[in-house]
Amino acid sequence: MDEALFERVYQTVANRESTYDGVYYTGVRTTHIVCRPSCRARTPKASNVTFYPTLAEAIEAGFRPCKRCKPEAGGKLGPDAVMAAQVDAIIEAQYAQKLTLQVLAESLAISPFHLQRTYKQIKSYSPATKLESVRLTKAQAKLVKSTMGIAEIGKAVGFRSSSHFTAWFSGKTGLSPAEYRSHNRLGACQKTEEANSEQEETLTEQEGAPTKQAGTLTEQKKH
Ligand SMILES: [Zn+2]
Repeated sequence: MDEALFERVYQTVANRESTYDGVYYTGVRTTHIVCRPSCRARTPKASNVTFYPTLAEAIEAGFRPCKRCKPEAGGKLGPDAVMAAQVDAIIEAQYAQKLTLQVLAESLAISPFHLQRTYKQIKSYSPATKLESVRLTKAQAKLVKSTMGIAEIGKAVGFRSSSHFTAWFSGKTGLSPAEYRSHNRLGACQKTEEANSEQEETLTEQEGAPTKQAGTLTEQKKH
């Protein structure tokens, strides 16, 4: 398991949060017991912990299910939802790295095709969309709350080139990173509204264009 992902899941063990219950299983090597991440027992040292994506794998590796948190009772998630939650956990932990569908699929030991299709069925959007939205949220937070430079922020959310980051960010938000930063810092809210109203004007011109095609679409059945 990747170090960033380990840290993320271990944090929920330390805080006794149920975020990853049924998604990962905590094997404690000193006691040979496997727990839910939210188990109320004493928090094991990180150096003694191994996380497993299934209970079966933990048992296979020689761990007994904890009598206190009963990991065998399972979570509320079905197997596909567990996989989707694992994809999200990896994205949330590794968004700063080069994260392709292939990389995700390899870390879950499943095919890219199966991952893409199943994830989309569960979430109704693709893993790529999720990755972009995590990167955008992190970049926006860093622009507003930190003093990091634009290139540094781009790197921190997975872009090697500053110009690529700027073009991507502008495409998503309609503002360059520098503009977004200045508009969202204290006392600059009114400028953002001006920028938005300009965009609305350019969109109104396109209204009415699709009417010619309307008749051809009515015959198609919904899938
Ligand atoms: Zn337990």
